[in-house]
Amino acid sequence: MPRTTRTATTRRTSHRGNEGSLFKPQGDDEVVPLQASKNTGSARDFFPQRISLPQLRAAAKYCRGCDLYCNATQTVFGEGAARAPVMFVGEQPGDQEDRAGKPFVGPSGQLLDAVLEEVGIDRKHDVFVTNAVKHFKFEPRGKRRVHSKPSAREVAACRPWLEAEIDVVKPKMIVCLGATAAQSLLGSAFRVTKHRGEVIEDQPWAPWMLATYHPSALLRMPDEAMKERARAEFRDDMKKVARQIGQLSR
Ligand code: SF4
Repeated sequence: MPRTTRTATTRRTSHRGNEGSLFKPQGDDEVVPLQASKNTGSARDFFPQRISLPQLRAAAKYCRGCDLYCNATQTVFGEGAARAPVMFVGEQPGDQEDRAGKPFVGPSGQLLDAVLEEVGIDRKHDVFVTNAVKHFKFEPRGKRRVHSKPSAREVAACRPWLEAEIDVVKPKMIVCLGATAAQSLLGSAFRVTKHRGEVIEDQPWAPWMLATYHPSALLRMPDEAMKERARAEFRDDMKKVARQIGQLSR
């Protein structure tokens, strides 16, 4: 597994706030937009002046870093323990997450919760969950909104939010759920199919990283035998995560 360098695709955002922010602070956790803006090409343009999870979450509500804000209901920022040892990064919010404004509350989140409980990872105290892209991208099909994969440009535009979440939470381990999250942090050449379940150590984001299936992929698999095998592999990967973060309390 080649080491990811801080190139244009993996450069981390400065931990400082955005002095040229399009927002002004309003109390501890609120910001108000100074000017309306069309898609600027980067979430970085919408950073608050002070960097904290509440300030970032509040600023992200007004993000126009790409066009995905146009059709989605709201920004779905990461949630969880502010100093969680493990951060799970998915692709983007789904239909239910978009409506609720919270990540991993739909069927994928329920599957993730069940497996975390099974392997002894406490989602409330040990976990922060987020996505590579903070708005739901979909295609309308009748009354349904069908998930649509975000483009590389949209993932890159949104990555400053993810980088800021990582900088603030400082997880010991980052688990990338699916190819979009893995490629956002580990480079476009990274293949989950090749490196799934490996504990990766030489990356700038966290001491340990691991990439595995996105729970939604497990739910969608049409073949029962394949689904059973993939779920077992996913459980094994989560056991590995539990063992890694278990080392921290020894
Ligand atoms: S997807 Fe990300 S970059 Fe695009 S508008 Fe939403 S929060 Fe901003």
